[in-house]
Amino acid sequence: MERKMKYFDAHTHVNFAAYNEDREAVILRAKEAGVAMNVVGTQLDTSASAVALADAYEHVYATIGLHPIHTAKSYHDPEELGPSFAPPSRKASDGQGKASEGKGRSGGFTSRGETFDPNVYEEMGKHARVIAIGECGLDYYRCDETTKGLQKKVFIEHIELANRLKKPLMLHVRPSDGRDAYDDALGALKAHAKVKGDVHFFAGNWETAKKFLDFGFTLSFTGVLTFTHDYDEVVRNAPLDMLLSETDAPYVTPVPHRGKRNKPIFVTEVVRAIARIRGQDFDEVAFQLMENARRVFRF
Ligand SMILES: [Zn+2]
Repeated sequence: MERKMKYFDAHTHVNFAAYNEDREAVILRAKEAGVAMNVVGTQLDTSASAVALADAYEHVYATIGLHPIHTAKSYHDPEELGPSFAPPSRKASDGQGKASEGKGRSGGFTSRGETFDPNVYEEMGKHARVIAIGECGLDYYRCDETTKGLQKKVFIEHIELANRLKKPLMLHVRPSDGRDAYDDALGALKAHAKVKGDVHFFAGNWETAKKFLDFGFTLSFTGVLTFTHDYDEVVRNAPLDMLLSETDAPYVTPVPHRGKRNKPIFVTEVVRAIARIRGQDFDEVAFQLMENARRVFRF
């Protein structure tokens, strides 16, 4: 990739239905601003579309996997797969307000779930522009107690796949309270992982952060940093070379763009927030975050 790319959006979903009207414009606008990106799949179709985008654009890379909430019939966001995935009894309306706040329980509907076939994902994962496996992990926030076992099984299958492909993991870990899912995820990694990776949308405290950092995983942060101080301690205490910037677009739009759909170009606001919280120079932080992405994802 050309050196003129200055920022890296380590976790974005421009493959989602939210960009069906203007996907190419969003991707090219990011390139003009020097923003390279990792487009993350959440099940088979969004993984395949992530790879297709990575094939089409030099500044775009892909991550493939099955999101923990898609391992079973579960909450589903219409901005992700589009209204066609909705059961006929419910309409996928109100995509804008609720879903752009991200991760809310309302505004969505129930998805059918998908069975993880490691062989299919392994073929896809051999592609040179697939830089990570995921997003995979444990989501206890939206899950039914009975699906925890299945989530764990599928998570371990992703870890084993990443080991075989020698590619890093892109983790989605969301606790129901405190740190339960983080502790369980770390346990599975310690037992099975031969590769490292990134903890996307990190939402734990410093004590939890330290465990992942000590284990060699980077932490990535979103636009959430621009409207809460909840993660300032972690952002300040972590070594700069263990942080990544991401948008998680279309979710969690940063200040000053709140109320609009998020997009990769807004990752500069995340970089700005990291620099501000740490009291460091913006350009210095941007440079190091890009270096971190190159090291973790080996592009
Ligand atoms: Zn995601």
